[in-house]
Amino acid sequence: MITTRFAPSPTGYLHIGGLRTALYSYLWARKNGGKFLLRIEDTDLKRNSLEATQAIEEAFKFVGLAYDGEVVYQSKRFDIYKKYIQQLLDEDKAYYCYASKEELNILREAQSSKKQRPKYDGRYRDFSGEIPKDVEPVVRIKTPLSGKIEFEDGVKGLISFNVEDILDDFIIARSDSSPTYNFVVAIDDHLMGLSDIIRGDDHLSNTPKQIVVYNALGFDIPKFYHVPMILNPNGKKLSKRDGATNVMDYKTMGYMPEAILNFLIRLGWSFKDQEIFSLDEMLELFDPKDINRSASAFNSEKLDWLNAHYIKNSKSERIVEELKFFDLHICGHDKKEIIVDALKERAKTLKEFAMMAKKILDEPETYDEKAVNKFLNDEAKEILEKYVEFINNYGKDLHLPIDFEEATKLFMQINDIKMKQLAQPIRVAMVGSAVSPSVYDVLSIIGREDVVKRVEKLLKSIS
Ligand code: GLU
Repeated sequence: MITTRFAPSPTGYLHIGGLRTALYSYLWARKNGGKFLLRIEDTDLKRNSLEATQAIEEAFKFVGLAYDGEVVYQSKRFDIYKKYIQQLLDEDKAYYCYASKEELNILREAQSSKKQRPKYDGRYRDFSGEIPKDVEPVVRIKTPLSGKIEFEDGVKGLISFNVEDILDDFIIARSDSSPTYNFVVAIDDHLMGLSDIIRGDDHLSNTPKQIVVYNALGFDIPKFYHVPMILNPNGKKLSKRDGATNVMDYKTMGYMPEAILNFLIRLGWSFKDQEIFSLDEMLELFDPKDINRSASAFNSEKLDWLNAHYIKNSKSERIVEELKFFDLHICGHDKKEIIVDALKERAKTLKEFAMMAKKILDEPETYDEKAVNKFLNDEAKEILEKYVEFINNYGKDLHLPIDFEEATKLFMQINDIKMKQLAQPIRVAMVGSAVSPSVYDVLSIIGREDVVKRVEKLLKSIS
């Protein structure tokens, strides 16, 4: 049984890098019919964990990930941690350390002046002297004094740490008796029955400490997968400016959940040279052992490309539904299909889509001066006047783009006019600038009556 987890610290939002490890953990559990659990690492009680959970739930809902069971809050498990601390003390695998801050500072200075790695020297490890009265002790775990800590990382291969180089008897309970980070992570990962831990490789240096705890308590060690970081295009750690932002910001920017997940799965994992993955394909093909060993770079053009792909390939009803978030309500519009068809090949984001649609649906308030000067000379004005008259008196139905195409072609034929003489002036009249989707789509969306009104409005405003 594969059980994975996502274990964020409560920051109040889910960032894009966190979502990637959550996605990997989710896929691996679901693919194997296992469980994907959520644990909020809120031992720092100053942070608001409820808000953080809500933020994660909101983001998970947006992208369509779901966790199993109840959320585990570390802040509610202090009694459990205390019990294990006591067990280790009773078994002589941990001990009280009464070293004062000043003592430890002196030790550290002495070590650094000898160019040694600062580390606790074990002075209370097997202490039998008089216990200082004025110091609230911490609890330290007895770490092996020599040898190696090794594990086979699912991404990085064999990882081997020399105990003497990196560890000391680290603190598992502070002087106020609160448990420390690596201790509680190990306890919870065990008690929650985790088989596979997929997390950022910024946690790699925590793993040997967690293994010390596992070993001291006789717990089985889970399989670890340490995923390389996401870098910015300059090879530096991804910062907020590069896109390491709240997942929900991507919703506001108009990215579709499919595009975000597709982008994230490829950011650190690949299958042949395939770029597009549906959720079903992700479930079928993802295996954490294929996660790239080297860091991957965040590439916003790729995200745009994927988003454009998903917009283009979505059903109209879906797009219509999504556009509501951008204040565009076209469910009741008789041309909604035409609107979607006209724009879905052009928009990179849903936000852009909504803006483009509004540009067509709302009568222009102003006209782009450059376009007016360039395209609306006297000849063009005359052509527009004639065109309006023609459209007004056209005997057949004018509904679909093809109807407008037929009518317009007939008009051009009768008056010996070329498309290039007509298209840009019409665009300026319809949307206020010379940039728009296909003229016939635009005319059809606006409809005969308003087409006439808009041409008349333009002619009046430039006469
Ligand atoms: N709470 C840690 C974080 O948000 C993750 C810990 C883990 O995955 O072991 O980075």
